[in-house]
Amino acid sequence: RRLALAEERHLPAETLDGHRIVLRANVATPAEARAALTTGAEGVGLLRTELPFLNHPSWPTRNQHAATLVPVLRALTGQVVTARTLDFADDKLPPFLAESREGRRLGRGLPLMLAQPDAFADQFRSLLSAGADTDLRIMIPMVASIDELRACRRLLQAAAAEAGVPTPPLGIMVELPEAVAAADDLAREASFLSIGSNDLTCQILGLDRRDPTATPAMAAHPAVLDAIARVVTAAHRHNRQVSVCGDAAAHPFVTPLLIGIGCDSLSVAPAALDEVRARIRRIRHDTCVSLAAIALTRETPEEVRRLVEQCCQPSL
Ligand code: PEP
Ligand code: MG
Repeated sequence: RRLALAEERHLPAETLDGHRIVLRANVATPAEARAALTTGAEGVGLLRTELPFLNHPSWPTRNQHAATLVPVLRALTGQVVTARTLDFADDKLPPFLAESREGRRLGRGLPLMLAQPDAFADQFRSLLSAGADTDLRIMIPMVASIDELRACRRLLQAAAAEAGVPTPPLGIMVELPEAVAAADDLAREASFLSIGSNDLTCQILGLDRRDPTATPAMAAHPAVLDAIARVVTAAHRHNRQVSVCGDAAAHPFVTPLLIGIGCDSLSVAPAALDEVRARIRRIRHDTCVSLAAIALTRETPEEVRRLVEQCCQPSL
């Protein structure tokens, strides 16, 4: 079956009734970048940049960023690359931040980075230079407020001016309830929005990221779907595209709901691309819209799962 799905790689991720979804890949390494292109991804929807530094003793320097970014971005020449800035969160805290009181209290990297503007600027400089031959977009994780987005934009603009290049589009990840609440303001000023359903699901349902019950299927909880729907409405009001780059994007019961809610793009692991594309090509958009509307009136993820099962019998 895998082979049969691979034969659809050159075909668009389009529903039976002609609704197009942009399908991108989540990558962190050159091998994953190559796998993404082999499997027909329309570029990268999430480049995780913090993974090489989880055991690092200090903020990475510009050269240390370059050493990890150059090989992966070289493999993506000419492609859309949505590069996420360092996301040192609760489950991904390097030793030098695990010690910091603020790091432990917040469990979020963005305030820590904004408190170290030189370290942040070094990553922007490195991204602008290493990504010069890609269609580069910059994405900020764990954004909670418009002030944070503005502070990031000032640093990025300064780095771009210094390098003498245009400022690339600057988007945000929506993975905190604060960002859902501020979605309208954030959508006005962000170039694009991407839903980090892994964290957003845990945040909304009060689950620890390391809790084994915090699965991608839990994104089918109506409270999570409702949050995503609010973000999509706000984003489209301001003509911004919304992507989902958490693992729920590739989950059989959740993909149709995300499409029905109006997400424009999905970004999934390279190994899941064939399957997600095939799933999209075997459903109708109008069915997804009806499903999503009913799902929002349900109370538990199990009820939502049964609803999707009855309607789509997802075999992919
Ligand atoms: C997410 O939170 O959904 C996400 C894509 O980011 P990460 O899994 O790296 O936290
Ligand atoms: Mg996250």
